[in-house]
Amino acid sequence: MDLGIAGRRALVCAGSKGLGRGAALALAEAGVGIVLNARGAEALERTASEIRDRFGVPVTPIAADITTDTGRAEVLAQAGDIDILVTNAGGPPPGHWADWARADLQAAIEANMLTPIFLMQAVLPGMLERRWGRVVNITSQSVRAPIPELGLSNTARAGLTGFVAGVARQVAAQGVTINNVLPGLHATDRATALDTRVAAAEGITMAEVARRRMETIPARSYGDPRDFGAICAFLCGEPARFIVGQNILVDGGTTNITL
Ligand code: NAP
Repeated sequence: MDLGIAGRRALVCAGSKGLGRGAALALAEAGVGIVLNARGAEALERTASEIRDRFGVPVTPIAADITTDTGRAEVLAQAGDIDILVTNAGGPPPGHWADWARADLQAAIEANMLTPIFLMQAVLPGMLERRWGRVVNITSQSVRAPIPELGLSNTARAGLTGFVAGVARQVAAQGVTINNVLPGLHATDRATALDTRVAAAEGITMAEVARRRMETIPARSYGDPRDFGAICAFLCGEPARFIVGQNILVDGGTTNITL
């Protein structure tokens, strides 16, 4: 399918690995030039080179912490006018509600709520002026079905989801769509880190953790970040212009809801 976005420019945040990387690869495959962000320069350069080599689109890597004011300012200044924004950042650690101090809550809210909100506030005016734009926020299945030990994530992402629900309807008439994509379990470094904690806490092997997790997923596998990226890219395409303000689960059927 021709997504009709060749030649457009996208900013993909937290995109050197995992789900953000999947989104960057899929957008580049559709002919989109990529401004690619992550903190670590090595993996960032590696992914940037891979995208250039495979798809021949321009790629601008910017090593910065997207969750800080200075990092965001640097990324936005170098990115200039962009047509497509994919927001993403590392997820908060798991834990117990009784242990979360103000600083833990603030860090989660900064990374997973305020960062995407500030990024949208920065790029939406230009998109509205040019009467075209796409925003995809990578959130989590926990928005629909909160995961108790990921309470920091549940809390911050609920705020972002509420923000998007309103704003998406305010900008749609000018050709700008905003949607959230909600990953379930995908095979990334983040999933490996979470599985490692479970294996250590329960004294079981990583293979056993994976087996138990897959029993909870009707598709009986972890998701592939490349498939996830293709869904993000589709939402950024011309044919997706009528998808507005949605929270789209990509979780192999794990979240058993009808609405
Ligand atoms: P991942 O494999 O650990 O990759 C995270 C990426 O984000 C890396 O490129 C990392 O590079 C970058 N990054 C992290 N913090 C950053 C920051 N402050 N500024 C800029 N870049 C940053 O993680 P993932 O699995 O793709 O997860 C992405 C998001 O989806 C997370 O918020 C996660 O909670 C959520 N999620 C994931 C799953 C899953 O199963 N994978 C499920 C539900 C939700 P650097 O470390 O070099 O910065």
